[in-house]
Amino acid sequence: MVAGCLRGRILRGEMVSTSTRSQILLRRLRSIMQGQDKAEQKLSRIANEIAAIMGAEVSSIYVRRKNGRLELFATKGLAPSAVHQTQLDWDEGLVGLVARTAEPVAVRDAPKHPAFSFRPETAEDPLHSFLGVPIIREGNVIGVLTVQNQEPVSYSEDDIEALETTAMLVAELLSSSELQDVIDPETDIARDLPHMLEVDPLVEGIACGRIVFHEPRIEIRERFSEDVTGELARLERGFAALEEQLDRMLQRVDLARTGAHRDVLEAYRMFARDSGWRRQIRDAVKTGLTAEGAIERVQNEYRARFNSRSRTFLRARLADFNDLANRLLRVLAEQDGRPELLAQEAAASVEDVILVARTLGPAELLDFDRDVLRGLVLSQAGHGAHVLIVARALGVPVLSGADRVLALAKTGDVAIIDGDTGTIHIRPTADIVAAYQEKIAFRAQRQARYSALRDQPAVTRDGVRIKLLMNAGLLVDLPHLAESGADGIGLFRTELQFMISATLPRQDRQQQMYQTVLQAAGDKPVVFRTLDIGGDKLLPYLRHGKEENPALGYRAIRLALDRPALLRLQVRALMKAAAGKVLDLMLPMISDVSEYRQARRWIDKEQAFLKRHGHALPEQVKIGAMIEVPALLWQLDQLLAEVDFISVGSNDLQQFLFAADRNNALVAQRFDPLHPAFLKVLKEIADAAKAAEVPLTLCGEMAGDPAQAMVLIGLGYRSLSMSPAAIGPVKEMIRSIDTGTVKKWVNGFLEAPDGPMKRRLQAAGK
Ligand code: PEP
Ligand code: MG
Repeated sequence: MVAGCLRGRILRGEMVSTSTRSQILLRRLRSIMQGQDKAEQKLSRIANEIAAIMGAEVSSIYVRRKNGRLELFATKGLAPSAVHQTQLDWDEGLVGLVARTAEPVAVRDAPKHPAFSFRPETAEDPLHSFLGVPIIREGNVIGVLTVQNQEPVSYSEDDIEALETTAMLVAELLSSSELQDVIDPETDIARDLPHMLEVDPLVEGIACGRIVFHEPRIEIRERFSEDVTGELARLERGFAALEEQLDRMLQRVDLARTGAHRDVLEAYRMFARDSGWRRQIRDAVKTGLTAEGAIERVQNEYRARFNSRSRTFLRARLADFNDLANRLLRVLAEQDGRPELLAQEAAASVEDVILVARTLGPAELLDFDRDVLRGLVLSQAGHGAHVLIVARALGVPVLSGADRVLALAKTGDVAIIDGDTGTIHIRPTADIVAAYQEKIAFRAQRQARYSALRDQPAVTRDGVRIKLLMNAGLLVDLPHLAESGADGIGLFRTELQFMISATLPRQDRQQQMYQTVLQAAGDKPVVFRTLDIGGDKLLPYLRHGKEENPALGYRAIRLALDRPALLRLQVRALMKAAAGKVLDLMLPMISDVSEYRQARRWIDKEQAFLKRHGHALPEQVKIGAMIEVPALLWQLDQLLAEVDFISVGSNDLQQFLFAADRNNALVAQRFDPLHPAFLKVLKEIADAAKAAEVPLTLCGEMAGDPAQAMVLIGLGYRSLSMSPAAIGPVKEMIRSIDTGTVKKWVNGFLEAPDGPMKRRLQAAGK
């Protein structure tokens, strides 16, 4: 028997299109759904109807129970006594194969298939052909729907599609009826059960609050429609509007630039035009779904299939398609003038916000109301991404896993995020909340211990004093200087102030800002870094051209030397602000000594200009360079002969040394601050600076990790600049170590033939 015959039988010999057949099937099933029967009776009637319409001897519905097994819940054709008796392991038989792979399985000669498993109680012998499709809800397989035929049948794509549409309806029945309690909670179908997710921790800390989605999710109210033509037209309008929206976003002045945002949008635009994706949605509409229902169905399939793969890049693509599907749903809701479907209203009243965002740039994070923001969940972010640095500065813990949260949570749900362990609790139970209250209290005690150390010197057991400075960039950071007991500000990222401003800050506003910083610092030193923009730090009011590799592109000192007006304006404001004081100026991303010289010439010119015009000048101007570009390692002697100080930007130095984008989560494991190659580089810098008697600091994120800071001390670093929250833990470590012992240990580590990174990569390759 062939599929065409099947169709013929369904409509008593009449040959009709698949979409008509699906519509008839759906109409009949929906009338069952709308009836008064109990859910189990409905399932049984659905099984009968499927068997009749699909022309199959057997039709069965398996549901994933709480024990993780697939239980026969309804059947037409197998022994009725097998219902609730037959339970299959998750990977048992052809039904298990469907569940495990989350893909349809169509087999002409089932007993010959290697996965075939015979269950005598079902009395299924001598069935030949098998077609099974997953029942998917929220991207999880919650059951399997099958048809079986006695004669060998080659099931067609159309048969599979008809059964998949039916499975969608069954999914709705299972998750909206009394049956939802019997389904395995692991399948995540219910959006009101507690959930715990294990994800990648990105910024340490614990936060409790209510979930707010950066971009609202859509509540789908209608999934089925008989007006196929009308729904197709809505969908086409939606596709067109989506494309227009993406084009408009890409053309917007503040987005017509390089960086992660643009790349994401470019990818969306490409996926939005993907003919396969569009065709699948159109086909789903033709089976009797609304445009929304069709988008959801295709997305569920993508999610289930991609989730069953371990390949990271597929997961990343899935996140793109999830986001795109969500965008398309929003476009449809907007087109229909139904803003109430944008499930976001609750956000307005939420006080403690756990923000969930697919992607978020540092400027967007700074835009968010800091008084209510407690935590952040992103889809993915490289460990060195600036959004994480800003979050760290704000004391906001960050975790990955936004896509999973999106699938499980609603706006306003309570969540606890633990950036120390990488755990997210959605709708936590009372015991979890209590456990976290204890954990928070424990952290407060630890914090109190660090505070007690605030006025103690950062001196090792053998009497070596380590200078502990803090990184800052926002005015809100300034109180931390006193609270943390930092010796000063080792890195003031001036660009952060520019990023939160709607327009380019004029000279007087800049001067005021810098004065505020210097006043807050009092006698403590402040190292101002000149604007480090470009890469993922973009200014909305400055035009940035498209670049293939923004991190390697037109940024920081390169931009400053090309557009000296910006640098001069900033230097002038800084000099005026630091009148009568010491001004420490640091130049980012120097890759050649000549760049340092050129910048220094501009700075000297500004100083001369101010002097000529009778302005009060800083008592002393010290100019330093950041060591972030490996090329500088071979010019250290020349550089050290000219600079007043140097500071290692270990974030960028690692990114360039390992050729691994610090923003890209896929290569995050290649960042290995303790890799012998990197340690050798750090040691070379420390030795050279010592020999030249040039003050040296390290201001990348590794300085704030107590273990990594210990290694740095072993390598000879005596000045470290870190996020204020790290000062306490690092100081505690310093007061417990002996530099001689640490040095010996680190030297051994330097000579290790293999780096931890290599071992990790090898382990991953096995
Ligand atoms: C660095 O690269 O290590 C650094 C401190 O600068 P930023 O993180 O701002 O690029
Ligand atoms: Mg840098």
